[in-house]
Amino acid sequence: MHEMSVMQSVLDAAFEALEKSGETRITEISLTIGEQTDIQEVPLNFAFEALKANTPARDARLKVEVLTTRSRCNECGEDFDHDRFSMICSICGSTDIELLQGRELSIDGMNADSEPFIVVDEASAVEPFDPYADIIAQARAEAAMNAKKANSS
Ligand SMILES: [Zn+2]
Repeated sequence: MHEMSVMQSVLDAAFEALEKSGETRITEISLTIGEQTDIQEVPLNFAFEALKANTPARDARLKVEVLTTRSRCNECGEDFDHDRFSMICSICGSTDIELLQGRELSIDGMNADSEPFIVVDEASAVEPFDPYADIIAQARAEAAMNAKKANSS
């Protein structure tokens, strides 16, 4: 899947930027994608969900802006939007056109914060087991008893 390798490159760039920023967690990544790149939003989101797990981007949201295809006609000089496949001027019908927009693939921005990045094993995160809980409870009970004794004497 094309989108997997694209997303891996995006995340690699984001992790590099994160390291430079001194922050620890990525909260949002904004991408601009031209429709001529043949990158589809649904598989791209799927790749993002799969690849961000257990990384500093695990809580991040992905924002994608898709740019339509826009060309300039060298015959009549007009700029026009068109679909991915039609390569003729919508005004004069010339095939002598030049692509202006639609091949973009860029990271527009990234938000990060300094929340500690902790890998949580979902299965064991139910009830933390505290081996000292009983000892602490006993110590508290003893302290309470001692306090009572001190008050009554
Ligand atoms: Zn034209």
